[in-house]
Amino acid sequence: MSKPLVLVINAGSSSLKYELLEPDSGDVTARGLVERIGEPVSVITHEQGGAETVEELHLPDHRAAIDKMLAIFAAQGTDLAESNLCAVGHRVVHGGRELYRPTLVDQHLIDEVQRVSPLAPLHNPPNLVGIEAARAALPDVPGVAVFDTGFFHDLPDAAALYAIDREVSEQYALRRYGFHGTSHDYVSHRAAEFLGRDYDTTNQIVAHLGNGASMSAIKQGRPVDTTMGLTPLEGLVMGTRSGDIDPGLLLHLHRVVGLSVDEIDELLNKRSGLKGLCGENDFRTVTEMIAAGDADAKTAYDIYIHRLRRYFGAYLVELGHTDIISFTAGVGENAAGVRADSLAGLEGLGIEIDAERNAVRSGEPRIISTDASAITVLVVPTNEELEIARQAKAVVVG
Ligand code: AMP
Repeated sequence: MSKPLVLVINAGSSSLKYELLEPDSGDVTARGLVERIGEPVSVITHEQGGAETVEELHLPDHRAAIDKMLAIFAAQGTDLAESNLCAVGHRVVHGGRELYRPTLVDQHLIDEVQRVSPLAPLHNPPNLVGIEAARAALPDVPGVAVFDTGFFHDLPDAAALYAIDREVSEQYALRRYGFHGTSHDYVSHRAAEFLGRDYDTTNQIVAHLGNGASMSAIKQGRPVDTTMGLTPLEGLVMGTRSGDIDPGLLLHLHRVVGLSVDEIDELLNKRSGLKGLCGENDFRTVTEMIAAGDADAKTAYDIYIHRLRRYFGAYLVELGHTDIISFTAGVGENAAGVRADSLAGLEGLGIEIDAERNAVRSGEPRIISTDASAITVLVVPTNEELEIARQAKAVVVG
């Protein structure tokens, strides 16, 4: 009997990412991306057996996207309904206070994800559409929801609560939930394993720097702080999101500038961060602009690094003693300059980057600090799909 497979689904507002993999070995059978769902021309890109299929067609909704995905699998000789598929693992961004462990999809789960949707209005509704579509297309395969907020569920109150009227925050569940939990979970465990350290006696900082970006501090195996808050808008400078701002700025934008709540939402989520500062959100483009002498791109980079350093400082102090710092995600894994600049000049704090090691490109975990560095600095490629697959399988078959 072949080993169990998990289909991991990450449904965005107009996109659907999927991966079929074996959670035990991490072997990936296929992966793909459907983009522009609901637009006149959608695009599906499917990789399987070393070949890539790209097809353009109209896919009106996520159900149509999932049906098309199944048809492509079938055309490649993989009948998902007949394969050894033990679960469909769904990335769900916000679980609120009640949902944080990986959970079997049933009507209660769907109702609860729906109930907390106001906390993640851009993410939870499409996640739910993905769950419903997969349920309809593969009715005999159990679905498991894995929450982006789950890893940070037990943050200490000192880190999780906002200093606002407690009655208001309790009534509306306003607290710092944290996101990218699957990545912080995977990377911190992989880092400890890579260095042969016991997770529960290791203090770590993880910098997940992708289009979205967040940092976490993990003390003796327990997350004690993270940069994202009630929503994925707080914290680091991101591709299109502002990260931290003075909350008074929101009031000013409304009262004085006259922006509506929706306009402020759009400004902070879509027209801020690197994009707002220099017109581009892709880090590679920003780097090229800096090389070409673009002053706005340089300022955007400086703000990005400044924010990162501020949080490194905060987390080094919170942890008191730090064993490992890991960089991950698109920017963290690839931009050696960001790694070097965000930890430059910290020899006094026990951090010494080795320029040669930092310049190495690889898809494997690697050390980029010197042997003399008291804190070991790593690059650890993240793998959220594998983590979701493992957690989903654990729920279904133990
Ligand atoms: P992610 O959200 O993890 O997919 O990361 C996306 C971000 O990683 C984008 O800003 C990309 O520009 C950035 N990225 C990907 N590859 C590189 C690279 N080789 N150098 C710098 N940034 C990169």
